[in-house]
Parts: sequence; C-alpha cells; structure tokens
Amino acid sequence: MILKPYAANPSHSLGRQYHESKSKFRNDFQRDRDRIIHSSAFRRLEYKTQVFVNHEGDMFRTRLTHSLEVSQISRGIARTLNCHEDLAEAIALAHDLGHTPFGHAGQDSLNACMKNFGGFEHNLQSLRVVDLLEQRYADFDGLNLTFETREGILKHCSIKNAKNLGAIGERFIKRQQPSLEGQLVNYADEIAYNNHDIDDGYRSGLLKFKTLMDISLFKECAELVKKDYPNIDEVRLLHETIRRIMYNLIFDICQTSAINLAKFKPKTIDEVRTLPNLINLSKEMAQKQLELKQFLRRFLYEHERVVEMTNNAKKIIKDLFLYFINDPSLMPEAYQMKSTKNVARAVADYLAGMTDRYAIKTHKDIK
Ligand code: MG
Repeated sequence: MILKPYAANPSHSLGRQYHESKSKFRNDFQRDRDRIIHSSAFRRLEYKTQVFVNHEGDMFRTRLTHSLEVSQISRGIARTLNCHEDLAEAIALAHDLGHTPFGHAGQDSLNACMKNFGGFEHNLQSLRVVDLLEQRYADFDGLNLTFETREGILKHCSIKNAKNLGAIGERFIKRQQPSLEGQLVNYADEIAYNNHDIDDGYRSGLLKFKTLMDISLFKECAELVKKDYPNIDEVRLLHETIRRIMYNLIFDICQTSAINLAKFKPKTIDEVRTLPNLINLSKEMAQKQLELKQFLRRFLYEHERVVEMTNNAKKIIKDLFLYFINDPSLMPEAYQMKSTKNVARAVADYLAGMTDRYAIKTHKDIK
C-alpha cells in the first residue's frame, strides 16, 4: 500500500479511548476492521432490510451484502487515490451497524417514538454500537476503535448531539470534514445503493427496463451495451448497464478527487479536515447521480408495495416501543440494566439491534 501524505496513517492515529498495546502483525485500522467483522451487530446485518424485507426473497440485498459492496467500492477508490485502504474498509463495514430493522421505515418510526427522549439517528447509533453496545471485552464496553474509524462512522450529526460527543463531535461544531477515507466511503455508499436498488427493483418486478431508460445515465450506458451486443437478453443487458454506470461513477470520483488533491495539496490528514470536501463527483456526474436517485425515490421507495411494507414496519416498531417502555423488565437483562439510567434510550438500543425477523416474531408474541 503506497500512502500519500494526506492519507490516514495508523502510526499517527489519534488513538483509542482505552489504552491497548500495539499488535505485532496488524496495523490499528486492520484491527478495527477485524473487530467490526467479529461483532454481533455485524452478523445481524444479514437479517436487516435494505429496501426489501429480508424474508421477501433470497436474492435481494440485505444490510450485510450492501455493506460488503460499499466496502468493495471504497477499497477500490482508496487504493486509486493512495488513501488507507484498511481504514476505508473498516468504516465501510461499520457504516450501517446502527440501522434498525426494516430500513428507513424502522428508523423513522423509532425516531418518532423517541421524539421526547432525544430522537433516534442511525448514524449516531452506529457509533453507539462500536463505542458502547458491543460486549466483547473484559476491560471496556464497545470495541475501542481508533478515532479515525469512529470519525468515519459518524457521517452526520446534529450540533446538539455533537456537543455531547467530545472530540469526535468537534468537527460538526467547527464545520470541518472527516478524513478522505471517511469522505470516500460516503460516496461509495451512494454508488452502491443507487445501483443495487436498480438491480433489486428490476428483479422484484417493481421497476421495468423501459421505465429505467428514462434515467439519462442508465440510457447512455444501456445504448452503448446494445451497440456492442445487439442480441443481448434483457437481464444481461441490465447487468452490463449497471456495471458501466458504476464504472463511470467510480472513475469520475477518482478523477475529480485527484484533481482536487492536486489543487489543494493537503500535506496531512489534519489539513484535509480543514479543507472543503476533496472527494467529489464532477458537477455533471453529480447531476446525473441525483437524477438517478430521484427516479428511485419516485418509482421504487415510494412504490405502493414498498410503502405498504413500510407502514407495517412502522407499526411493529411503534407497538414494540410502547410495550417495552411500559415494562422494561420484559427486555433482556443487559438492556434492563441500562434502562435504570434512561429507559427510552435502552428500549431504542434494544429495538435498533433487532433483526427484521426477530422484530416480527417478538411483535407476534406480544399480541
Ligand atoms: Mg449504507
């Protein structure tokens, strides 16, 4: 791995919250990644919804396969730009650990339930998982990750919450950026879901090829494929098209960001934090990606079948929240103990950690 001076460097890490001796054969970011992979929150991603509820079909993305795709894209961009690939991988694998069951519907519902108790935000929850909720070490709660991995996980944060987070929240108050590795995972996340949602949307039958041709980036790529392979069947055409869209987006990010890096010449990661976002799409490509995103919102995320699933999910979360907040002794012991300090937060932690099927089963059991 050839690192540029602007890349995160494990030898100059701002460190872990609790002191630990160095590993003899792994750098600190590799260790972070390994801790994330071995966490129980990571395994549970397998049974959490991305867009389609886990039991709707075995072929759809789950939060786990989504996270793996984000990690693959992140590593490619990190390596091209000579950033730290291990750090990018660690952030990517952890970025969705705080997601509730049932995707964004679950998060919106839990946020509404938590309205008078400080709200619920999945990004902040991902940080809570790695800082507090995992119970794997004798000496501390959480995974004791490096500052750089935690910084990358906390993608967004309100100023109000940032004030309670210490050093990790400071950048939101100072309006600074995270490391380049943190910035690029953010884009990799968008590239991953925009493209796999087209694929899953098509596979589910909710999106038709003909309608997808309304997206300019899709149309451009599909026409090039058809030119090279005039007799190609629709499924292969779709996959070849998605492959090209992803290539174009990733190529554009690498090229645009390399220009930014050459222009601003940041000499350290600290300087990166004070500069504007240097990882970017070109204006033209950002516009095309936005169009694709808006298409998916209108024709997939707001499709009546998805909305119906969403409404069901919202009700399940609400019912479970009311049930456990009324009697916290019905939760597992670890959450009951936390509930003595803050009942609502303990219930939110418990619900956010549930998989789709566990939430559905618990909901059936309490009825
Ligand atoms: Mg994601």
